[in-house]
Amino acid sequence: MEKIEIIKPDDWHVHFRDGDLLKAVVPETTRHFARAIVMPNLTPPILNEGDAIKYRKQIEEAIPRKDHFFPLMTLYLTESTNKIDLKNAYENGHVFAAKLYPAGATTNSDSGVKDLNKIMSVLETMSEIGMPLLIHGESTEKNVDIFDREKEFIDKTLDYICKRLPELRITLEHITTKEATLYVNEGKQNLVATITPHHLALNRNDIFVGGIKPHFYCLPILKREIHKNALIKVATSDENSKFFLGTDTAPHLIGDKETACGCAGIFNSSYALPILAQIFDDNRSIKNLEKFVSINGAVHYQIPQNKSKITLNKQLKPITFRKSLKVNRSEVIIFKPNFPVFWKNQVQN
Ligand SMILES: [Zn+2]
Repeated sequence: MEKIEIIKPDDWHVHFRDGDLLKAVVPETTRHFARAIVMPNLTPPILNEGDAIKYRKQIEEAIPRKDHFFPLMTLYLTESTNKIDLKNAYENGHVFAAKLYPAGATTNSDSGVKDLNKIMSVLETMSEIGMPLLIHGESTEKNVDIFDREKEFIDKTLDYICKRLPELRITLEHITTKEATLYVNEGKQNLVATITPHHLALNRNDIFVGGIKPHFYCLPILKREIHKNALIKVATSDENSKFFLGTDTAPHLIGDKETACGCAGIFNSSYALPILAQIFDDNRSIKNLEKFVSINGAVHYQIPQNKSKITLNKQLKPITFRKSLKVNRSEVIIFKPNFPVFWKNQVQN
């Protein structure tokens, strides 16, 4: 039986939501991951230090006793974010990074930024104090096709931010296109990107062919096969130092997905590591999995690598996926790709 031992992974992009949903989903992350960057797009969003402290407490109460897990909190940038408050929150250690959502780009992003110039002095402060900026990189211009939104954002907005603030540490989140892989690879050294398991596993046909699959609908939306292959290439490469895992695990109750106007988001934390191991193995790069899930992110964020290890075993038969996670009287469907997964995480249940 094939077996690998790697440094315990971190997830650099999760949605824990709040309330009962939070209680149900947090253990699905803390079972496998040592740390995670927690997204601030609640209703209302996490806007200041006080909000982040309160939210962190809710998360900590949901962590099972056996798990050693550290949530890294973020603030949601708006056009009224106060740079002094942001600086204090960061320097007090209550907040790890700030997130830029263009207004209207995804779930609960209505209070996001419409005019970048209104937050430029906040970004300058972040650059000065070394605070990381996380970006949902999609244009929200009405006339831009949904499949072109990432490329448009890179050309019109990201490139401008990178040139204006060369010292700012930037993570382009959940990239989906070949253009993004090229821009990040050729870009400044402190520009990195996260990639989700589902964008490495699926292409846009998987949403539509043979009937619409609401549980494969997410934002940024899945792209063509050539883009999926470009993501796999950079993630699994021997030279990869700028791309790492951000699952973007984004739970919605089944009734909010299977409906006339369904929510965007894929809940993938439960089997993210076995799925990634399978993809790396299929691309003869299992030796590079550790860099992607456990090393590159810590290096970019300038925090120590985790000390503990995890083991993944390759089974003779494909693993069985749990179909859903119960939340009160409803459920959240767990992401299962449309190929067999032979890798098993030793702590999987
Ligand atoms: Zn997200």
